[in-house]
Amino acid sequence: MVVDVLVIGGGNAALCSALMAREAGATVRVLESAPRAWRGGNSAHTRNLRCMHDAPQDVLVDAYSEEEFWQDLLKVTGGLTNEHLARLVIRHSATCRPWMVKHGVRFQPSLSGALHTARTNAFFMGGGKALVNAYYRSAESLGVQVDYNAEVDQIELDAGRFVAASVMHKLPDGSVRRERIEAGACVLAAGGFESNRAWLREAWGQNERGEYPADQFLIRGTRYNQGVLLKHLLAQGADRIGDATQAHMVAIDARAPLYDGGICTRIDCVSLGVVVNRDARRFDDEGEDFWPKRYAIWGRLVAQQPGQVAYSIIDAKAVGRFMPPVFEGTQANSLPELARKLGLDEHVFMQSMNDYNQACRVGTFDHTALDDCHTEGLSPAKTHWARPIDTAPFYAYAVRPGVTFTYLGLKTDDTAAVHFNKVPSPNLFVAGEMMAGNVLGKGYTAGVGMTIGTAFGRIAGEQAARAALKQGVAHANA
Ligand SMILES: Cc1cc2nc3c(=O)[nH]c(=O)nc-3n(C[C@H](O)[C@H](O)[C@H](O)COP(=O)(O)OP(=O)(O)OC[C@H]3O[C@@H](n4cnc5c(N)ncnc54)[C@H](O)[C@@H]3O)c2cc1C
Repeated sequence: MVVDVLVIGGGNAALCSALMAREAGATVRVLESAPRAWRGGNSAHTRNLRCMHDAPQDVLVDAYSEEEFWQDLLKVTGGLTNEHLARLVIRHSATCRPWMVKHGVRFQPSLSGALHTARTNAFFMGGGKALVNAYYRSAESLGVQVDYNAEVDQIELDAGRFVAASVMHKLPDGSVRRERIEAGACVLAAGGFESNRAWLREAWGQNERGEYPADQFLIRGTRYNQGVLLKHLLAQGADRIGDATQAHMVAIDARAPLYDGGICTRIDCVSLGVVVNRDARRFDDEGEDFWPKRYAIWGRLVAQQPGQVAYSIIDAKAVGRFMPPVFEGTQANSLPELARKLGLDEHVFMQSMNDYNQACRVGTFDHTALDDCHTEGLSPAKTHWARPIDTAPFYAYAVRPGVTFTYLGLKTDDTAAVHFNKVPSPNLFVAGEMMAGNVLGKGYTAGVGMTIGTAFGRIAGEQAARAALKQGVAHANA
């Protein structure tokens, strides 16, 4: 039987599409590259989504207006965003949660220690893993067919119209069975290309020190987002958005595994201390803005440092003010001892620390506000939460760039259609990381990945059902 809507991918965006298409009356098949145990892509690692609301809403306190959300997005992207699509996503976030609840997602208030998010971000009870499990359960109960170990590597097009997908079913004995699947419409929701290390290497190239920075990157999420379809679609003339080096990149514990380290490898004490590179020098403003608005640029900053490594340094005053990392940091009773334990040049390190300590102008420390503790006459400055690092014990965490997801994607519009030479496809749609670059040219504000995936996943599913069912009626009438 030819299915109405084929959904490629198995994370949040794919499942939102599948559920919406099914609710609109279409028959739906989902192809997930990962085995069942690893289903859900990066979405399984998430904790929350960012939501606008004009008044307190169950787990969200106060209000977070469309305008404030938009200004936050504008600031972090430096204007590299499409206002029309961004506002569409923002408005969608005000109304999508009852639908999520209907499909089994449960929310909880922001965790203590998850800085500054009680107002802006709704947390998933049980995290993203529980969210994707709920969506899979709901999809299966509605009759959506789900294939695991099913990697799509080719899409057949006819002048921009989707015809069929070619899937490799990876069988338990290691062999592969190929299948060609036709459908009335298709949603591409197969993630970015962050797990493809060769592509990251090619995109980042070699730096002036002769290093290939991407060789030191760790991938925070799934190993299955290889960008196979993104590359394939771009090669077939789909319009692109974004730059291959732009990504959500976090400074994560240098001891994290290559894939799937997830949220617990994040080092969240940057704004409470200072960060030095391998040469023991500071290189950026650790207190520029609230951590949820800055954490996603620190991976990139570390990627630009020699050896793509840095050290987040705090003293006893910071302990208890941030989510503690899973692995203990390097501890010392003096700063020179800390430098020796880290293998850093003690003289340069002490100079960096003394310069910083002497430049601190401490006012009223308040980590919940952009406070008045700042440095004077120091470059780079620390503009908030600057207090001398002078209270033993001292701690350091080595950090490396952790790639969350890449922003190069397919250009789309408010119907989620894939474009070829500026012409929207009548039946090929895109959602999630594969198009997030339309809204996020660079930068990030916590929770917006799931907001984009939910909004565009739902739009793509609805549009795909409409396109497929219209086509079905046309066939029946022919
Ligand atoms: C550790 C971590 C924490 C995060 N926390 C948050 C958070 O709290 N809030 C937030 O908003 N965002 C967060 N993000 C970002 C968020 O995960 C993404 O923005 C969002 O999940 C993207 O959803 P998606 O469906 O597009 O991609 P994914 O969830 O990654 O799904 C892509 C799917 O496509 C499948 N696939 C890939 N290639 C193929 C192929 N060729 N054929 C078939 N299937 C294929 C994959 O197996 C996967 O199932 C986090 C990411 C990570 C890694």
